[in-house]
Amino acid sequence: MGNDGTKKYHILTYGCQMNVYDSEVLSGYLENMGYDHTEKEEEADVLIINTCAVRKKAEEKVFSRLGKLRPLKEKNPGMLMVLWGCMVQQESAAQKVKEKYGFVDLVAGTHSLGRFPDLLEKARVSPRTILDLETEEEREDLPIKRGHKAKAWVPISHGCNNFCSYCVVPYVRGPEKSRPLQKILNEVKELVDNGYKEITLLGQNVNSYGKDLDQEMDFADLLNILDHLEGRFQIRYMTSHPRDFSEKIIRTIQHSQKICEHFHLPLQSGSNNVLKLMNRGYSREYYLGLVEKIRVLVQNSSVTTDIIVGFPGEEEKDFEDTLEMLEKVRFDAAYTFIYSPRKGTKATEMKGQVSSDIKKKRIVTLNEIQSRISMEINQQLLGTEQVVLVEGRSKTDPNVYTGRTRTNKIVHFSTNENLLGMFVNVEITAAKSWTLTGNFKNKVTTQESGVRSQNEKTGENI
Ligand code: SAH
Ligand code: SF4
Repeated sequence: MGNDGTKKYHILTYGCQMNVYDSEVLSGYLENMGYDHTEKEEEADVLIINTCAVRKKAEEKVFSRLGKLRPLKEKNPGMLMVLWGCMVQQESAAQKVKEKYGFVDLVAGTHSLGRFPDLLEKARVSPRTILDLETEEEREDLPIKRGHKAKAWVPISHGCNNFCSYCVVPYVRGPEKSRPLQKILNEVKELVDNGYKEITLLGQNVNSYGKDLDQEMDFADLLNILDHLEGRFQIRYMTSHPRDFSEKIIRTIQHSQKICEHFHLPLQSGSNNVLKLMNRGYSREYYLGLVEKIRVLVQNSSVTTDIIVGFPGEEEKDFEDTLEMLEKVRFDAAYTFIYSPRKGTKATEMKGQVSSDIKKKRIVTLNEIQSRISMEINQQLLGTEQVVLVEGRSKTDPNVYTGRTRTNKIVHFSTNENLLGMFVNVEITAAKSWTLTGNFKNKVTTQESGVRSQNEKTGENI
């Protein structure tokens, strides 16, 4: 509680952007109920931990955090402690919380979002932990308190049908369900009217958008409609599945103005054997063809990826295939993960589990190679001018700003002008593997901000 008697809330969010969005909805509810946000956990009347289940480490972090929060709850029994999201959607984790962390007031899974106010009320009056792991859900027309003023996240689908053999997401987020076009359009239009400069469309597999809808509509059609909306903004989307990344989508991006030239295509492994075991539905040859098509059609684009090392059955030669793919594709960046067995997934039961030592060795090698490649690619940007959307400023020096290029590269630069949420031109003066540094040139005013001219994108001269 604040000194002025106002009720306060604090949310700790783990995991992916979809969780960040869900936390924004929880914040929206709480603000509507009269709560104010606080940065300080100890001041909160409602404290929510929004959890992730993708890797074991994410779960361990939550349990360790819970342990540390126990004294806080003991000191302030009136505080409502809520454990939310993917982790608790798993029966075993929910049970563990009930048994070992009985001081938690409410445990609710990813499908409970539409029921949050009722659940919180129940938890307030109940002496025991309230558990809500129903799969029935309502996700439209929920309140929201956005965490950023220039960038907003808009889900276009929920859940996933892919069942990659290592992945827990289909179990905790349920089957894929596309949102109706009109709902997405309304949300995007409202954001743009309110001055948002970047919209990121969210889904576990955005490319399969629309397959479950009555209307004839696919992801490329959706992108095309959004690209034609009025206003000065740019569009991103995550995450794509290479298998479903059609030529129609690439051509839509090629001819678009607002869609960023950044392709995040999780490869996961460069070995056909492992890809098969992972149930990814494509081969390395297909993947190489896809990247080539993208690079021919969309000039000046970046390609990034996710890679898992130490998947069961990954032998030295499979790992070498992955390294070879890094050299062949030359990704701008790669997010690399050590395989983490997840209860209930197929891969957990597979033969040939890789030892922790080998996994660690492999990820070091992988990161070294990728780091060099990213550095080489970024060095080519030295001396160029890039359009950057300014996202934030340094906590220690308010004159140091951070933004991203359309290709999703992080850029730092200094200026004493207030540029938050603006498109600016920055001349790149230094380049590392993960970040660029530059000199601020000017605000983008000559062309529509965040819009790239057609000839620049397609490489055609006019
Ligand atoms: N729907 C997205 C995101 C899935 S989770 C997609 O399909 O890309 C984000 C990344 O975490 C995945 O791309 C994968 O590289 C990694 N990941 C998922 N499950 C994992 C596991 N069990 N162990 C290690 N990494 C995993
Ligand atoms: Fe998991 Fe695969 Fe679905 Fe991504 S596409 S969420 S990796 S099952």
